[in-house]
Amino acid sequence: MIDDDDAQRPLPVVLKPVDDELLSSWLERHAAYYGVSGPFFAKWLMLGTRNLSLLDHRLGLTQVARLSEKLRCDPIALIAMTFIDTPARSAELICRNRAPQICRSCAERHAREGASGAVPKHWRKVWRITCPACGAPLSDTNERPDAGETLRDTSPFARVWKEAVAGEAIIERFLQGDVSFDYSPIALMRALLVHTWRPCGANGREPAAGWALGAIFPEFDNLARPIKRRINHAAVAALPISLRPALLAGVARTIASPAILDAVRDETSLRGRRAFERLCETARLEAQTTKESH
Ligand SMILES: [Zn+2]
Repeated sequence: MIDDDDAQRPLPVVLKPVDDELLSSWLERHAAYYGVSGPFFAKWLMLGTRNLSLLDHRLGLTQVARLSEKLRCDPIALIAMTFIDTPARSAELICRNRAPQICRSCAERHAREGASGAVPKHWRKVWRITCPACGAPLSDTNERPDAGETLRDTSPFARVWKEAVAGEAIIERFLQGDVSFDYSPIALMRALLVHTWRPCGANGREPAAGWALGAIFPEFDNLARPIKRRINHAAVAALPISLRPALLAGVARTIASPAILDAVRDETSLRGRRAFERLCETARLEAQTTKESH
């Protein structure tokens, strides 16, 4: 337990973070260790907020100073545990709430090493389908842990797993400053989620909802239709994780042969076509700007 007398001193025990651990996860584990709630711990640390997860996205200098003193850690290392240095173009690709994915083998290892419940940063990144720490396919957090299944088993797009992994690597390379791309893969992710209409619905008369990505993987449209409000180019992070391999495989294919973009464009209509063209142009310009800034 911690009390007011401790408020001016560093914590007596500081837990070792796991690889790539998210700041809020590390702080929550300290709260649990000292037997207090997260909000209570935040208040005791005098961080000016009771919401630890806010710190993953916004961390002021006073908070950095306070945390590095209380937890006896390097301010730079502390900042690296957050998403505050994330380039603006990828900020929307970070899930703000609960992590949608988990690496079961790393989670088991954390538990064995006394860091049960630790959350690494990549469990919040919407372009990840494999674990950078151990290489295993990630699992949907909603899947029962005892089933031992990963996305590679549960996704309806498991058949394009290899291409999806290639898409994941492309996005990582782009974010790390690889300037060899003609199109920004991040902007392409948005472009492929543009909503459009297909000429014939199930009954052959009314137009049916579709997405640009459906021109590459036709089954995407059928799977996306029942949850169409969640599938939107302005909110890539809202795409259910089971459909993520399709999006990443679509990115890998269009990066490998950009001519596919013309074919996809021809299958979009009305506002969808305009939005798709605009986003493809953005993808081209973003890649060019990245090249020029290096
Ligand atoms: Zn792992």
